[in-house]
Amino acid sequence: MGALGVAVKSLGKGVSAKDYVNDVINEIRAKNPAEPEFHQATREVFESLIPVLDRHTEYRSAKLLERVAEPERVLMFRVPWMDDRGEVQVNRGFRIEMNSSIGPYKGGLRFHPSVNLGILKFLAFEQVFKNSLTTLPMGGGKGGSDFDPKGQSDNEVMRFCQSFMTELWRHIGPNTDVPAGDIGVGGREIGFLFGQYKRLANEFTGVLTGKGLHWGGSLIRPEATGYGCVYFANEMLKAQGKSLQGLTCLVSGSGNVSQYTVEKLIDLGAKPITLSDSDGVIHDPDGIDREKLAWVMELKNARRGRVREYAERFKGATFVAADRTLAYNPLWDIKADCAFPSATQNEINAKDASNMIKNGVQLVAEGANMPSTLEAIQIYLDAGILYGPAKAANAGGVATSGLEMSQNSMRISWSRQEVDERLQRIMIAIHQNCFETAEKYGTPGNYLNGANIGGFVKVANAMLDQGLV
Ligand code: NAP
Repeated sequence: MGALGVAVKSLGKGVSAKDYVNDVINEIRAKNPAEPEFHQATREVFESLIPVLDRHTEYRSAKLLERVAEPERVLMFRVPWMDDRGEVQVNRGFRIEMNSSIGPYKGGLRFHPSVNLGILKFLAFEQVFKNSLTTLPMGGGKGGSDFDPKGQSDNEVMRFCQSFMTELWRHIGPNTDVPAGDIGVGGREIGFLFGQYKRLANEFTGVLTGKGLHWGGSLIRPEATGYGCVYFANEMLKAQGKSLQGLTCLVSGSGNVSQYTVEKLIDLGAKPITLSDSDGVIHDPDGIDREKLAWVMELKNARRGRVREYAERFKGATFVAADRTLAYNPLWDIKADCAFPSATQNEINAKDASNMIKNGVQLVAEGANMPSTLEAIQIYLDAGILYGPAKAANAGGVATSGLEMSQNSMRISWSRQEVDERLQRIMIAIHQNCFETAEKYGTPGNYLNGANIGGFVKVANAMLDQGLV
């Protein structure tokens, strides 16, 4: 019997891989109640692994699914801080150290009011396989807080970051756990976090990635997730003898990933026409060009304004306010060739996916983590469109964090061109791995299976080699 009395038949003779997977999924649901995103992420990966578990019974007897779904360590802590009015505020901090079988824990910190244990566990779980796909030696982790940096002064953000790091610093280190940015954690926050770490540890070391260029950061790190996602999309198209040239693209979000996705789409001759934030969507049928993108970057990164202002500034663009009562997102109901979801998890449901297919979308490349529900993914697969899942398509960010770690260890800085070329080589290798793995396991063209199996096998073999730890 597994935890809470759920029968796990994994070791029983004659039990199919499918039954084993179903048993583990049921056990995870029972053991981790109220964590729907974690259930969703584990189910998505484990169902892809059935053909592998059929061939490799050693993974089953070592209970690798049960082990890989259990974090090596979960840290949860109080983050008290004082706001500008002198009032005490209390937030909750987390770090999920998920799996260190192929390298130190590595993954971002998210500051957003929606952050909770289940969301960070799903992100840490995804990160394990994503990092494995990058070809670099990095384990998986994720962390953050329910703190909302929106609307806070720089001083408030600094005081929060200092308090957060005052607890976190004892658990991380350049050979143990190396956090980075994610939603709500950009260059400003990484600076404050790094400053406090350095002060407490009395050590200048590469403990965080996404650092400023003059104090250990890597060129191309800010661009890497968006650029990498577009490189991956381009590889999927190339495999079919096509290119991005002239294609109309939907991009959601307007933060780090969205901005550099738009930039690379423009570089490669595509036409991005949308952006969004939690207040709504802008649609610019003329296309977001370099000048408009520069304006968006200033709006979002310096003025910290809202995307609705775009439609006030640029003729021909329209703004549609977010309407939570709608069963779909109008952004995904616009005629286009490609979609680059780059905001947050579950931003595309079944209705959105059907709208996309109806409107001619032929390619989805996920810049955000788990932006598509399981039902939406099934619609992409049934329609036979090119689908680049997050753990492959957005792995360029963490891969470039890995390159930042290498430069820090060697105490050198590579040129922009050097880092960009390495990023491109990594995205090509990830694409190749997913493409070939999907074929090897009997589902050609299914990048979801390719990414899940390719990422899992390396971690699973390392876990077997290292014994029962
Ligand atoms: P970011 O710079 O903070 O931007 C996030 C964007 O998404 C903002 O426009 C934000 O709008 C929107 N958004 C966030 N939560 C939302 C919600 N619940 N509803 C509607 N809109 C929401 O973050 P980012 O780094 O670009 O990350 C975006 C996605 O990419 C996330 O899924 C992240 O995990 C993933 N990712 C990031 C990296 C990286 O290197 N940064 C790497 C891999 C994957 P508001 O401003 O209104 O909140």
